Formats: sequence, structure tokens, C-alpha cells
Amino acid sequence: MNIRVLPDTLVNQIAAGEVIERPAAAIKELVENSLDAGATKIDLLIRNGGRTYLSVTDDGLGMTPEQMILSVQRHATSKLPNDDLSKITTLGFRGEALPSIGAISKLRITSRPKGSEAWELNVEGGKKSSPKLSSQNYGTRVEVRDMFYATPARLKFLKTDRTEFSHIMDAVYRLAMTNPEVAFSINDGEKVKFSCVSETDLTGSDPALLRRLSSIMGKEFFENSLMVSSEIEGVKLYGYASVPTLNRNTTRYQYLFVNGRPVRDRLLHGAVRAAYQDFLARQRHPLIALFIDINTELVDVNVHPAKSEVRFRDAAKIRGLIVGTLKQLLSSSSQNVSTTVADLALSKFQSPLRDPNSGLKSQLPLRERLFEGKNETSKIDYPPSGAIESLKNVQFVTEVESPNKDNGEIISKNYPLGAARAQLHATYIVSQTEDSIVIVDQHAAHERLVYERMKKALNGNGVIRQGLLIPEIIELDDEAATRLVDRAAELTELGLVLEKFGHGAIVVREVPSLLGHTDTKSLIVDLADDLKVMDSELSLRERLEEVCSTMACHGSVRAGRQLNPSEMDALLREMEVTPHSDQCNHGRPTYIELKLTDIERLFGRR
Ligand code: ADP
Ligand code: MG
Repeated sequence: MNIRVLPDTLVNQIAAGEVIERPAAAIKELVENSLDAGATKIDLLIRNGGRTYLSVTDDGLGMTPEQMILSVQRHATSKLPNDDLSKITTLGFRGEALPSIGAISKLRITSRPKGSEAWELNVEGGKKSSPKLSSQNYGTRVEVRDMFYATPARLKFLKTDRTEFSHIMDAVYRLAMTNPEVAFSINDGEKVKFSCVSETDLTGSDPALLRRLSSIMGKEFFENSLMVSSEIEGVKLYGYASVPTLNRNTTRYQYLFVNGRPVRDRLLHGAVRAAYQDFLARQRHPLIALFIDINTELVDVNVHPAKSEVRFRDAAKIRGLIVGTLKQLLSSSSQNVSTTVADLALSKFQSPLRDPNSGLKSQLPLRERLFEGKNETSKIDYPPSGAIESLKNVQFVTEVESPNKDNGEIISKNYPLGAARAQLHATYIVSQTEDSIVIVDQHAAHERLVYERMKKALNGNGVIRQGLLIPEIIELDDEAATRLVDRAAELTELGLVLEKFGHGAIVVREVPSLLGHTDTKSLIVDLADDLKVMDSELSLRERLEEVCSTMACHGSVRAGRQLNPSEMDALLREMEVTPHSDQCNHGRPTYIELKLTDIERLFGRR
């Protein structure tokens, strides 16, 4: 048996397999190098998703020819001056990136430190040539051609150019977010695909960080995010988080940075989910960028060659900090939420005088639409089927005097949500306050109220149950039935009493009385789905609250049910005293408010 030390090129190709798995990984390493070199401007040129050509040009420190030769040597770095892995303050430290890239592609480094000439060094499939004079501005340009040509097996794993390009964008976004003072641009050979200017104003109401985050996450984020800032035992947490009404169906827009390093950590998504769960449906996710500053000795960044994972000494503490800070933030600012929605609503009110150019049918002024074509109203099922259902199920708190025409005036002055004046389309309650018109989505609002009541009951004396006169037998598949029966004890605590009923069926004996007469079968089916996808990381309490949310949705007044004036007012009064009642459990607003001043503006009175 012949044991031998592998030649350098092969070693570097093996390392490249871990460090440089795709063009975006090379970009990440190169941009990190530019940042470590103190660049204030970083420009990227990417062709064919980085496969045929990519370059990163910076205005950083630059390298002398001697430094360039060392830079492409394995495990050569300028970044661990004290040989101490527990005190890493730079993005790089492993000295692997340049030699790895050089082993799998045609690499050219051109660099010019201040007060010196420019030199160029080429490495091709691991073979280095000696530096030669070149020309270039101060700083460094690293060019990579024909990536993976030396390791064709890896080349086959690359996805389409577009996909690779979007991975590159994502890598740059992350680094741009944590370095607002550095300007970035990305060109795909045809045009500039992304650029952001150097943000240096760290103070003011729209500080540099928020502006930078918004240049990536959009104007919406700028207008609809909350500043995060807290600290425990020397761990600092800051950043921006979207209000729940701004959300996405993916966690892609949730970013975590630890000591300035973008990291991917499952801890983040779980913590954000726990914090927002009162405000958002399970499939919706807020946009968020959180930065943690922590003593470098309390976190290990040397977990993975790509340095994109970290390990906290005390992960539970970090999770607690994130969940606690966000929860606090959301509950203290939840009343701001729907004003942004009102702005949106207002912009939808198109007055014919304001927008003479609008040619779209849907944007035609009401007056014109009225006389347009055949009269379709007669075909519409109105009031909607089921609108005139029994009102017995609607359970509102009715401590408040119901208003009549005389005290409506007083109510609109004294209560934030005003006096109910009408119900429209059996769905919306319109009320009048002292200086505005409020439109409430009755289903969304009631859902929130039921949810908050259930949670309160859960924390207090328990949920009051109501026996079903005839226990309901529900057929499910066996797996779903078992899932429910396994959780029977928890569900009982929530007021839902069920047990197994033979193979693949359960029998429901009691339901939470809060829910009124609900469609038990569809509730059970939804709950079974819930339990299936429910995160095992959630604590029991968090799980219970999720179940509450599903139940609340089933127990709420449906859109399409007519309410009488005192029921409408009762709903408004209860909303006023219920926390978070301005949005439903799915993060949709429950009401919008149109100020009289805005309405006057629409009519040209102002
Ligand atoms: P690491 O970043 O882990 O040190 P690299 O292989 O990425 O390892 O880079 C090796 C060395 O080359 C760095 O330590 C740095 O001294 C030098 N270097 C790389 N890129 C640049 C750059 N853009 N500007 C100045 N120096 C650079
Ligand atoms: Mg590096």
C-alpha cells in the first residue's frame, strides 16, 4: 500500500469542493476579501451566471506582488495575526478561498496598493505564473474565467445561468446589508442589475442601515418596518422587522448577521415564527434583518468551510432574546399597523378628476361604469347566500349600551372606533368617529376577538366547554385521527373534547363554547392538518396558541352574516379593549380608517 501526500493542486481542488460549491460561493469569498481589505466601493461583473466569467473590483488596500504570490497559497492569510481562532474579527481567516478558486478555474488577480504600480498574477487550474506588470486603479480586481473547467464533475451540478445569478445576487445582498457604508454594483454584462450607494448617515429618522436594507428589500420595507434594538448581558440585538401586514410566503427575506457576518441559522426562522405567530398565518413570513453583536468568544464561526454557519455557546439565550424583543416590539406598536393600510386604501380611491388618463375599465369612474353595457347586478346573488342566517351563534360582549340615533353622536366622540352606522355587503361595518370613517371587516375582527378570548381563558381558568347534544362522529384517515387523539389532553385544555371512535374516526363530545355553533367537521379537519405541519420546536404553549388560532377562525362571524346595530357596536367596543385587535390572526388588517381630511382632499375641498 502506497500512502502519499497529495499534490497541492489536488488538495486545493478537494478544498474547493467544500468552499466553492457554485459561482455565488466564489463571489461571497471575493467580496468578503474586498471588505476585509477596507473597500468602500465594490463592483461586480457576472457573465452567464458566473460560469464563464466573473470579476470583483474593489478600491481597498491592494497587494504587492509578494503578497499576491502568498495570497494564492494554501492556508496563507493576513488575518489571524495572533493565531487565535477565538478572536476572529475579519470575514476571512482560513486562507483557502483564492487557492481553491485558482485550482478549479482560470484566476487572475490584478492589484495596486497606494503609491505603487499594478501587478497581475495568473493561476490556471492550480498552475501559478509569476507576477507581471499591469495597469489598474488603486485596489484589487479578481477575475475568474471558466469556473470548474478543471473539475468537470462539479460543472454538471450547476443550475441555469439565471438560478446561479440569483444565488450571486443573494450572496451580495447579504454582504451589502451588513456593510451600508460600502457602495455595491452588479452588472450582468448587459446592464446594471443592482446598485446601492454608500450610506454614511448613521443618525436621523431614516438611518443608513434602514436605507440600505430598503434598497434591497424595497420601498415597502422602508415604510413598514419597525426598528429593533435591545441588549442582554452584553449581547446586542438590532435591525429592522416588517410589521405583520407586510409579509411573504417564504422565509427568504429573513436575514441574520452575527458580528457583521451573514449567517444561515435555523434558529432565526423558528424564533421569528414564534414571535409573529399571534399576528400571521403559518404560511406567511415577515421580512426581517437582525444583527447580533456578541463577544467573539461566545460564538464559533469556524463550523463550516463556507463560514455561513455559526454556533452560539448559549443558543437558548439568543433565541429568547430574539423572541422576547420582537414580541415586545409588536405588541407595543400594533396600533400603528393599519394606518399604512389606510394610505393604501386612499390611493385606491380614484376620483375621475384626479386621474384623467386612466383608461382601464376597472378604473373607470363609478358614474361611467353604472351606465356601461348590460346591467349585471340582477344576476348577482345578493344578499349572498347564507347572509340571513340565525344570529343566535353570534356571541358578543354586550355590556355597552347599544346606541340609538340620539347617543350615536356621543359614542362617535368618545370611542376610537366610533358609532356603527351601517353594515355593507353583509361583511363590512361602517362607523363614524369624530374625525374619520372606519370600515371594519367583521370576520377578521371577530376572529381576532375570539382568539384573544381563548388565549385569555387559557391563561386563566381554562376554556369553557359546551357539550354537544349529539356527539359528532367524524371520519378521517387513520393517521390524522391518531394525530388528534395523541393530542387529546392538550385539546381538552382548549375546550375540545374528542376520543377515538374505531378505525380512522373520532367522536367529538364537547367544543369550546366561545366558538358558538361551528362546523365541527371542518374544524377537526383543519386541526388535523395543523398538527401535521406543526413545528416540533414549538413549545407546548406556542402549539396551543396555534390551535387557538385555527379554532378562532372557525368560530368567527362569517362574512355574509347580517348584524343588527347593537351587535355591530358591541363588536367595535370589544375591539377597542382587546389587544392586537387591529389585525386578524393572519396579519390582515381588521379595519381601515379614512380621515375626514383625506376624504375632503379627494373631493377637492382642501
Ligand atoms: P482569507 O481571506 O481567509 O485570508 P483568502 O484566500 O480569501 O483567505 O485570501 C488570502 C489573502 O489574500 C488574504 O488574507 C488577504 O491578505 C489577501 N487578499 C485577498 N483578496 C484581497 C483583496 N481584494 N485586497 C487585498 N488583499 C486581498
Ligand atoms: Mg477570504
